[in-house]
Amino acid sequence: MIYRDTRDLSHAVDFRTAVLNGMNEKTGGLYVPETIPRLSKDIIGRSIAPSFRDVALESAKLFVEDEIPNSDLQDIIIDSYPFSAQILPIDRITYVMELFHGPTCAFKDFGARFMARTMSFFNRNENDALHILVATSGDTGSAVGSAFHNVQGLDVTILYPRGKISPLQEKQLSTFTGNVRSLSVDGTFDDCQKLVKTAFVDVDLRQKFRLSSANSINISRLLPQSFYYIYASLYVKQRSTLDTKIENPAIIVTVPSGNFGNLTSGLIAREMGAPIEGFIAATNENHTIPDWIYSGEYKARPSVLTYSNAMDVGSPSNYERIQHMYTLKQVRSILASYWVDDKGTLDAIMECYKNTGYIIDPHGAVAWAAWNNIRSGAMAKLLNGEKGNHKKPGLTPSIPSWAKLITEKKAIGILLETAHPAKFGEVVYQAIAREPSIPDRLQRVLKLPDMSIPISNDYSQFKDWLIENL
Ligand SMILES: *Cc1c(COP(=O)(O)O)cnc(C)c1O
Repeated sequence: MIYRDTRDLSHAVDFRTAVLNGMNEKTGGLYVPETIPRLSKDIIGRSIAPSFRDVALESAKLFVEDEIPNSDLQDIIIDSYPFSAQILPIDRITYVMELFHGPTCAFKDFGARFMARTMSFFNRNENDALHILVATSGDTGSAVGSAFHNVQGLDVTILYPRGKISPLQEKQLSTFTGNVRSLSVDGTFDDCQKLVKTAFVDVDLRQKFRLSSANSINISRLLPQSFYYIYASLYVKQRSTLDTKIENPAIIVTVPSGNFGNLTSGLIAREMGAPIEGFIAATNENHTIPDWIYSGEYKARPSVLTYSNAMDVGSPSNYERIQHMYTLKQVRSILASYWVDDKGTLDAIMECYKNTGYIIDPHGAVAWAAWNNIRSGAMAKLLNGEKGNHKKPGLTPSIPSWAKLITEKKAIGILLETAHPAKFGEVVYQAIAREPSIPDRLQRVLKLPDMSIPISNDYSQFKDWLIENL
């Protein structure tokens, strides 16, 4: 499979290069598959919906082609996914897809684990380790650290701003051992990012070490996220005739979004043939994309802090991929968009709990608010000619092709629950006066000793540390 640069379509690379380089440094563009392959009828048309690993292997083959032999690819899948996505109905027409059953309790495990094992495969004939440097403000660092832990030939250094992330997140980041370590930087997230960026362009360091990044723009993190959309839509399609008594329902997937990597993966799954009618892009007060869908003008802006902090992104990098895949008109036909403020997020946690008994985290709650309001009247109002107001929380005034299916009650919803509620216990408590129970794998981390190494935000100190310790 050939991958192209969104900013220079004449630039073409193979999968290996796209994975190891992450992006085209020269243009700053992102890699996208040249064409999106279609899933075989065997997968899409099976009378019993395929398992998650089946879907993962059959889909991955299409993007990797002959660059990884099938038996190795199967090992990568098996090793990446000792867990799966879990789908459960929470009301008559709503399913939640829980994506937090991986080691760090957030959906980023799906992408990070596949990326780590793919990088390790491509690095297998090298004598030297590949050194990954990551700056993180939370979930990404722990998913990446955990994903690369004990993976052969790879070595990871994580930088995070000391005392500026949640205590649980800090615990998750500071307790790695072996080939993964974390530096707690006396500074901000931007300082961490600057240290990493400076290291990447430091000729001296580059001569000594093979350096790479592991951030969210890497295509090998995006592709595996499409696996669970395919899996869920096939599973729900099969279940729904029994569960909902709606004949051949249209599936609408609501995605709580920040950098829009997860939603882009959903769009890829749909292009591959997953039976998904449309999407709802749900954001917090960082509503750059809803505004773009409304006005047609893309305006990046500084991010605002909210309760769903993993979605606090004012300049979502995957906008570039979405724009490469579709015209604005096509985007408006596939996507509805909706945004909520912090009060709306708390209300949604409470409402979801009250109506269904399901305890949802603040990120999933943004998706619940969007889906629940759209199916209970917000879309009908738009169809009836109400103007709406994109500056206020709510449904963006733009009518997707599937709008009528909602009002005619022919649609069912899948909500992505991207993190375990226990990761955001304080916010959940504020909403429902109840603490979610903490899963064993988080509890265990809380007991581990702090292994992080404190450093200042001074580049020369960071560089000296790398030279002495890598
Ligand atoms: C990263 C993250 C998101 C946002 O995903 P994007 O791919 O950046 O849109 C949502 N929820 C949680 C819990 C996350 O960690």
